[in-house]
Amino acid sequence: MVAEASDAGRLFLITGPSGVGKGTLVSALLQRHPQIWLSVSATTRAPRSGEQDGQHYFFLDRGAFEVKVAEGGLLEWAEFAGNCYGTPREPVEQQLTAGRPVLLEIELEGARQVRSSFPSGFQIFIKPPSFEELERRIRGRGTDSEDAISRRLERARVELEAESEFDAALVNDDLDRALAELEQLMALA
Ligand code: 5GP
Repeated sequence: MVAEASDAGRLFLITGPSGVGKGTLVSALLQRHPQIWLSVSATTRAPRSGEQDGQHYFFLDRGAFEVKVAEGGLLEWAEFAGNCYGTPREPVEQQLTAGRPVLLEIELEGARQVRSSFPSGFQIFIKPPSFEELERRIRGRGTDSEDAISRRLERARVELEAESEFDAALVNDDLDRALAELEQLMALA
């Protein structure tokens, strides 16, 4: 494990229910702050149209994912809506050692694991304006089956209850406003 030396990069983590718009917010943040290094996760989920292996995710089958887990190659991992997701350990440690700010965009169970391995990391929770708006966004995306949508909504209720575990929370209503708040929380503004 990487020592949390004062000259090492800082670890930031963003969590929020599926459909809350974390992806859009993170892309906008990275565009304005290219010094931030975003971790690319491994997943057993099938690629959505337009998703590139190695860029959006490392797409693995269950067997390959289990090998990674057994080797200790993941910093954290969790099952979400029927698929496994995990953060490759080595690149995160390399970037932190190199002094670069590192950003993880992961779900609640993973955030909890990272909280115990990197207690000095800063964890931010992204909230929707309302549950109804969240459901509208998930359905509007049109990429998931009805079964996957129900599982994501069920999980969203659990995640929304965990807000108080986080160092900070912000509502993603308007992208520019949410981005400005995120920059302030990350001391980038
Ligand atoms: P999606 O299938 O919509 O891309 O992602 C589903 C959920 O998995 C999202 O909440 C996303 O933040 C989370 N996720 C993505 N990568 C990881 C990861 O490496 N670890 C964990 N624990 N969750 C992840």
